[in-house]
Amino acid sequence: MTEQSDHYDVVNPATEEVITTVELAGLAETDAAIARARAAFESWRKVAPADRARLLRAFAAAVDADREHLAALEVANAGHTVGNARWEAGNARDVIEYYAAAPERLFGRQIPVAGGLDVTFKEPLGVVGVIVPWNFPMPIAAWGLAPALAAGNTVVLKPAELTPLTAVRLGELALQAGLPEGVLQVLPGRGAVVGQRFVTHPDVRKVVFTGSTAVGKAVMAGCAAQVKPVTLELGGKSANIVFADADLERAAATAPYAVFDNAGQDCCARSRILVEESVFEEFTARFETAVRGVRVGDPTDEKTEMGPLISAAHRERVAGYVTGEPAFRGSAPDGPGFWFPPTVLAPVRHDDRAFTEEIFGPVVTVVPFRGEEDAIRIANSTEYGLSGSIWTRDVGRALRVARGVEAGNLSVNSHSSVRYSTPFGGFKQSGLGRELGPDALDAFTETKNVFISTEE
Ligand code: NAD
Repeated sequence: MTEQSDHYDVVNPATEEVITTVELAGLAETDAAIARARAAFESWRKVAPADRARLLRAFAAAVDADREHLAALEVANAGHTVGNARWEAGNARDVIEYYAAAPERLFGRQIPVAGGLDVTFKEPLGVVGVIVPWNFPMPIAAWGLAPALAAGNTVVLKPAELTPLTAVRLGELALQAGLPEGVLQVLPGRGAVVGQRFVTHPDVRKVVFTGSTAVGKAVMAGCAAQVKPVTLELGGKSANIVFADADLERAAATAPYAVFDNAGQDCCARSRILVEESVFEEFTARFETAVRGVRVGDPTDEKTEMGPLISAAHRERVAGYVTGEPAFRGSAPDGPGFWFPPTVLAPVRHDDRAFTEEIFGPVVTVVPFRGEEDAIRIANSTEYGLSGSIWTRDVGRALRVARGVEAGNLSVNSHSSVRYSTPFGGFKQSGLGRELGPDALDAFTETKNVFISTEE
């Protein structure tokens, strides 16, 4: 260990008990990991595509076999409900399996030119640094590492200080599945030490950052010094737009899950509900019933729908947004644990901080709107542009509004945001580049053009 390395007590947010203590890497360990990744890259890039695919499939199978264990780790470390945690482990497996098909399909092109043959290759970049936040540790780790490895890069992954356990386990599973040493390394550490080193180290050729917009901007500025490519997945303040012609029962019944899932610690949370004014009262009444029905409590209980917030400090930050009397609230347990009840502010002024800033907790604002243009204007009146939903039975309106809203991931009559085979990412200050689906592979390759003369 170096003098720069230290320790971090990992806490169960539902009980406030210390689960374990994790050793954090310092600068020397980070540089050593980057050097190992650099050395491993020289051989990993040359592994035959079918063999790389086979190793990734074995990795996905190892994650699948370990699903219950991974889920239990996340329940304990992040307070996720056991149902959500199982989905997250399954998503990590799916993403690795999906990209296992990629090594044999990284097609270049043959372009007609005079005097020879012109071909393009999709070359790997080298060492990729993946920086992960605490809210969805498993899926977000997989979204970065899987396409990077499939394209022939090696990865050093830094989980968030608060939630390192499943990332460390994924690293162990990769080794068990046969991935060569150094191809995927997981390095718990502080953002300002390990994460920052990914930005400044010349052998890290790409940074994938998921986290807050403020840190994302600093990461991007740092990478600019070396013209280092970055993928940024940042904050959100997404709209859930409910038109008067919608299935109000379904819209209201699902709206709590669109924002309170993972206790609102979700970059895609639909934290601004916009309701056409003619049905504002009716929707709000239905929504109140749904919010009061959300089961908040012990995340290990199969019936629980919402767990605690990640930390005491985060709970204090979230509480700071609730300055007046809420319109209504759900319930939350007393006692140990970082609990916060589902909270609804309605109506709120458009310049209220709770309406403009990402709260990242179970607090939702509800406002009325008048017609399509007004809905689009309000939805777009934020620096963010990640996600959103549109509820209407009019397909033309659904498409007009979907095209008008400045966001990367929209759903109609649904609050789903993520499918591993479709692109995911933000407009405006919600990010840069796309993860998942076929688009992500472009982010982990450079196009090389080679001309071969056929002149005699
Ligand atoms: P954060 O920005 O504080 O930290 C994210 C990660 O960056 C952590 O691993 C942290 O250690 C690291 N980090 C901190 N300072 C750094 C630095 N100077 N250089 C390099 N790395 C550094 O964010 P958080 O609080 O962990 O996560 C919450 C935020 O993440 C929210 O804003 C949320 O919207 C966002 N998020 C976005 C997406 C998306 O896909 N768009 C997904 C999940 C979370």
